[in-house]
This record gives sequence, structure tokens and C-alpha cells, in this order.
Amino acid sequence: MLKVSKFGGSSLATAEQVRRVCDIITADPKRRLIVVSAPGKRHSQDIKVTDLLIAAASERLAGKLGASECAEAIERYRSIVSELGLPTKSADPIASDLTERLESSTADADLYMDTMKAGGEDNCARLIAEVLQARDVEAHYVNPKDAGLLLSDEPGNAQVLPEAYGRLRSLQERPGITIFPGFFGYSKQGNVVTFSRGGSDITGAILAGAVRAAVYENFTDVDSVFAANPSIVKQPAPIAELTYREMRELSYAGFSVFHDEALEPVYRAQVPVNIKNTNNPEAAGTLIVPNRTSSEIPIVGIAAMDSVCCIYLSKYLMNREIGFGRRLLQILEAEDISFEHVPSGIDNMSVIIREESLTLDKEKRVIEQIRQTLAPEDIYVERGLSLVMVVGEGMRHTIGIAARATGALAGASVNIEMINQGSNEVSMMFGIKSKDMETAVQALYAEFFD
Ligand code: ASP
Repeated sequence: MLKVSKFGGSSLATAEQVRRVCDIITADPKRRLIVVSAPGKRHSQDIKVTDLLIAAASERLAGKLGASECAEAIERYRSIVSELGLPTKSADPIASDLTERLESSTADADLYMDTMKAGGEDNCARLIAEVLQARDVEAHYVNPKDAGLLLSDEPGNAQVLPEAYGRLRSLQERPGITIFPGFFGYSKQGNVVTFSRGGSDITGAILAGAVRAAVYENFTDVDSVFAANPSIVKQPAPIAELTYREMRELSYAGFSVFHDEALEPVYRAQVPVNIKNTNNPEAAGTLIVPNRTSSEIPIVGIAAMDSVCCIYLSKYLMNREIGFGRRLLQILEAEDISFEHVPSGIDNMSVIIREESLTLDKEKRVIEQIRQTLAPEDIYVERGLSLVMVVGEGMRHTIGIAARATGALAGASVNIEMINQGSNEVSMMFGIKSKDMETAVQALYAEFFD
């Protein structure tokens, strides 16, 4: 069984990194389906190639040339090519391709933007195939259209279409090593469409699911997923193993190592995911699996999500009013607002929403609608909230996790505004004021990990 290996932008930012990536690919004959991102940042002040291409496209869409941003992106490839010792002309097709994209029609702004964005990955995949060929390795670039990566026609936020899986399955029969560009596919109309940002993780997961890979290796720039955000907790513990459900909860609330939409294809096909470090490939990394072997560890991580708000409403005898909840959520639906959680009491309900979805305009209309349709006695919106989550499947079988968590928060003088636990008992969530977020994460980490 083959392995699907995906390399992120930081793993492809310099010639040295590209060399390392090619060493990793050739070190294991099972690594036969490779997904690459576009070159990322070389240092913290740097700009990703994708961001340069977006900047160039935005300029052109604003009626300007976008030439300098595009030239900067081309220069990134040229410097990688020359530092690798490849002939200078190897970068010429990349320069022509990006220039052609820049000068293509802007009549459909979304299509134009996605065509530009996809240029980063597409050219990187061609380059990696060439670098491997120069090492006498049988490697071929494949275009996502030829391979059958069919996506919904939602520019910048596409979803895979179910029929893509059957088409992509035959990728495993290709000879040698296949280099597949991440981040984009094609709509049924034949147009380039991209996933949301960071979407090369999704491409890799779809391919791994389609070919039923032995493992989906996701190479990035950290040794593993950590039990808490390292910018909040000093040197948090690495997580050796966690389940899809646990990873889903952690990435929902801010863990950004792995794109949250990338879990679904591998979860459905039950392909394990191995998060690994390009700069330390010998390290075991983090394994995401259907079921954990180390089930005696109740909690795997503490996550936090900032910038949420809550619509709170109460009405005497609300529990008897059939359809109250449906009508409330319908009002949000009509405004295209997605809700996160709906904790409720006998005569009250709260709806937790990401702050960015509830603009002040929408808030006004929603409140008005709720007043008219549901006639609550009390209704108000609270902003500046955070959700802190204690995540771990082991809590299902462990008594006292809630007591320890609330005790830790009380000990740190953090006021809990809301508690929510899903019926699957994978996580426990606390709504708190944003100003207390860091203190809360540190207190919960200390309680469960120190
Ligand atoms: N290059 C794209 C981005 O920066 C996709 C990716 O890196 O996964 O979002």
C-alpha cells in the first residue's frame, strides 16, 4: 500500500528545503503520491508566494498592472532553481505561466483570482518533479484536471464532489512517483477552483482517501501537534496519538497544524494521518487514528477560540412553546449566519456565534426579527467572549474531569459564563470573557498536564 505525503509551504520555501523534501520522498519507496503547497515564508517577515499572487491579482482587478508582485513571485522560483543548480531555463516556463495567468481575462473576478492562486502550487509541483528527475528518479507532475479532482463551483471555498474519488483512485496505478499540486481542482465547467486557504492539506486528504493509502503523511515545520498553543503555554507537551474526533475538536477551536476540512476524507476512509516535521523526519510526529491505544490518557489538549458572541434570550414557559428553537434558528439562517452552539435552560436559550458572522447591521435586524416573531421577555447580545475547550475521548470513562476543570478555572479567578458538553463526550467547553482566555488555558493545562 502506498503512502500519500504532503509538504507544506514552509517545507518548500528555499532550495535547501526542497532538497530535504526530495530526500524524504526518495527515502521510502512507499511515498509514491506527493502533494505540494506553494513556496511559503523563508523567515517571519517574508511573504508567501500565494499571498504575492493574491496581491498581483487584486491589483489587476483594481485596474492596475500587478506586475511587481507577480515578478516577486517569479523571482522566488528563480532563486530556488538557481540555488538548486538547475539550468536557469528551468524557471522560464514558470515565469511564462505566471505571466500568462496575470494577463488572462479578468472578466470573471472569482475565476481570475483562483487561476492566480492556483499558480503557486501548480508551478511548485512541476518544479519538484523536475528536481527528482534530475536525480534520475522516475517522477511525473499530474494536472488535477487530468486526474479528475472535481470540485464544487465555489471559488476560494470549493468542496470535493463525490465522483472525484472514483476517478482519483487510478492515480495509484501510475508508474514512479506522482507529484500532485495541492490547493485547487476543477469545476464541472472546467474552471480552476481553489479550496479555502491552507487547502493543500485537503488535497492530500482527498487523495489519501481515494487510494486508501496506508497513511497520509503531512509534513510541516513542527515536530508534532502540541497539547496547547505554545504562544500561551510554555513548551506544551507533544501529543503522540489522538483520534480524528479529538483532532476535529482541537482544530475547530484554533489548532491550525492541520486544516479542519482535511479530516473528513481520511476519517471516511479510516486512513491514519501522521503529522511530521520536514526538518526532523526521524521524529515520530503525531498520529491521528480512528481509535487511540493509549486510552488511559483522558485529556489530549486544551484549545481556545477567541471572538465569539452570544445572543441570550429568555421567556417564561419557553419550554412549552413548540417550534421556538426552530423559529429562532430560522431567523439566523435567513441572515446567512451559522451558529456554533445553543446551550439552553428551561426558559432561556443562548446562541453562540462567531463575532465576524454577526456584524452590527445583522445584529440589529436579527434582534428586531426575534422580538417580532418570538416576543422574548429579555434579549441581549454579549460580545468579547472566548470558548475554552478541554478535549479528550478518555473523559467518557473518567469521573471528575468537570470538577477538576471548573476547580482549575475557579482557582485562577476565571468566571464561567457558560458550560457545554456534547453528547459524544469528546470535549467540554467553557464560555468565558476574552480577557481571561490565556489565564484559563494556562490553568487548565496546569491541571491536566503538569
Ligand atoms: N498555498 C495555499 C495557501 O497559502 C495553500 C496551502 O499552502 O495549503 O493558503
